[in-house]
Amino acid sequence: MRQATLATVLTDSRCLPVASESKSASQTYLDKRVTKSQRGTKRTRSQRARERLQTKEHLAGLARELHEGELADKLDRCHSRLSVLTCGRHIARIIPNFTCEFRLCPDCGRRRSRKLQTKYLPMMKSFMLHNKVTPVHLVLTQTHRKETRKESAARIRNSFTKLTRRSFWKQYFKGGTWSLEFTKDKNGLHHTHLHVIGFRRKFFDIELLRDEWLAVTGDSHVLHLKPILDLAAGLQEVVKYVSKPLDIRRFGAADLKEFLGLKNMRMFGTFGEFRDFCKGFEPSDDDAMSELETLSRDLVEGCACPQCSAPLFDLRLSKSELPQFYEQIESSPPGKVRRSSH
Ligand SMILES: [Zn+2]
Ligand SMILES: [Zn+2]
Repeated sequence: MRQATLATVLTDSRCLPVASESKSASQTYLDKRVTKSQRGTKRTRSQRARERLQTKEHLAGLARELHEGELADKLDRCHSRLSVLTCGRHIARIIPNFTCEFRLCPDCGRRRSRKLQTKYLPMMKSFMLHNKVTPVHLVLTQTHRKETRKESAARIRNSFTKLTRRSFWKQYFKGGTWSLEFTKDKNGLHHTHLHVIGFRRKFFDIELLRDEWLAVTGDSHVLHLKPILDLAAGLQEVVKYVSKPLDIRRFGAADLKEFLGLKNMRMFGTFGEFRDFCKGFEPSDDDAMSELETLSRDLVEGCACPQCSAPLFDLRLSKSELPQFYEQIESSPPGKVRRSSH
């Protein structure tokens, strides 16, 4: 219960700073060639909710094709009935009846990436304060080859491990986080990126880093690096690949089968001195979690909406009604509170 409650808070940035939707700073600097696969245009909440619904239906269909009935049923049940705490214009909290915890489930993935943000943001801030470092977002790419997803992921991670052992890297970076993003090119070859938040000690020539990456990969020098101006937004950008590691709408049964074989593959991790720092940080991490828990647990029916102070009420919705409710909120003129009853 604790997990479901904590994890499913669907508030905007004023209630939960780490779940901010703001992408302005981090959107601009990434090269289109690298990230166009998953960025898309900015969509409304109702559109995103509808897409999550379609993605889950698609996944459940593929699971049935593979005779994975149990997985399909879980996906069907996940977030199928919702208790929505709302003032009519804002949603303060959503409690689902059931969470499937499947790694490709977009609803469960959102919760997972929110948890990562809650866990790592305080550690990152503290690490920066202690170490006079600035965060950068580094996107590392590799050449496309005929290989499995697992081989592709292992190849880029091995290259990255080699990179972090080189004296150049150690001279300029003090650890950070990494996460994997998978795409496929038009020929069906796996294209894997590694998104790194690196804590940079000092400036260096990007061409030198390209040479280093080429030296460890043997055939790729394509990478992108930009400073992170807003740490919360930068972290959100990077952990979104944990909830959305690949484009599931273009996913076939064979892709799902391959993914089911990757059960233990890690999609996110820490490295270098930041990794050691996180280990020592555990007690305060618990503090941060309980703070968030208190924030969400305190909100009940009758409380004031954190955004407009109107009283919150409990709205029971089915999964297909949630996008409609978002739509209703989006089309309501500001100031007009509409109470819908079911
Ligand atoms: Zn789920
Ligand atoms: Zn409100």
